[in-house]
Amino acid sequence: MIRLIDGVSRLGLQLEARQLDQFELYYHELVEWNEKINLTSITGYREVEIKHFLDSLTVTLALGHDELKFLPSIADVGSGAGFPGIPLKILLSSPRLVLIEATAKKAAFLQHLVLKLELDGVEVVQGRSEDIAHEDMYRERFALVVSRAVAKLPSLVELALPFCSVGGKFVALKKGDIAREVIEASKVIALMGGRLTEIKAVAMEEFSEDERYLVILDKISSTEERYPRCSRMVKRRPL
Ligand code: SAM
Repeated sequence: MIRLIDGVSRLGLQLEARQLDQFELYYHELVEWNEKINLTSITGYREVEIKHFLDSLTVTLALGHDELKFLPSIADVGSGAGFPGIPLKILLSSPRLVLIEATAKKAAFLQHLVLKLELDGVEVVQGRSEDIAHEDMYRERFALVVSRAVAKLPSLVELALPFCSVGGKFVALKKGDIAREVIEASKVIALMGGRLTEIKAVAMEEFSEDERYLVILDKISSTEERYPRCSRMVKRRPL
């Protein structure tokens, strides 16, 4: 995990031996389960360290020192094989983490991983975020909502911001040319009670081949009950 240790130190953070063991175990479980179910196309040790683990941890760049230290809760929308939610949980340890994943097999992997890595305070919720966001237990309950590689920003904002408590943040991990996506999402950001705070370029040498960004939104007012709409509408007719 030498590249992960190195990258994390450049994020101004440190990993302890137990956390490194958890990342090591995560890698092996990911590769083993990937033979049975399609979790990821990235399976090389070095690639996983950088493109999954370190990439997930760059979310910390969106948060201040105190925010990181006292973060109460995280929701990961469309978590897949656990990115970015599980690496954040390994790093920060204390926040409540809810992983929302539509595919049953991936949710089963996540459940297995939580037990294997002995992570406390993690809940895997299998289902579509459009439905789960209307449940009282999850609606506007999270100080931090994160999501990577799930949908274009106009749809993603409708899927994710309803989970965010007022005063909380939504951080979308994005790659490539995002200017257009951000412009197209401006109406839905306001409709969901959000405000675009920053688009932060992730300037780390590990990611030189493709530009990475954190799109950071603040939740400034409550989301109207009717959002998110049903999944067909969110996908086909972004607001
Ligand atoms: N976030 C992970 C990552 O970056 O590796 C997974 C990305 S994968 C391309 C997208 C995942 O989001 C899939 O596992 C898919 O099942 C899930 N997904 C897509 N739409 C969803 C929704 N509306 N609610 C819950 N999960 C969703």
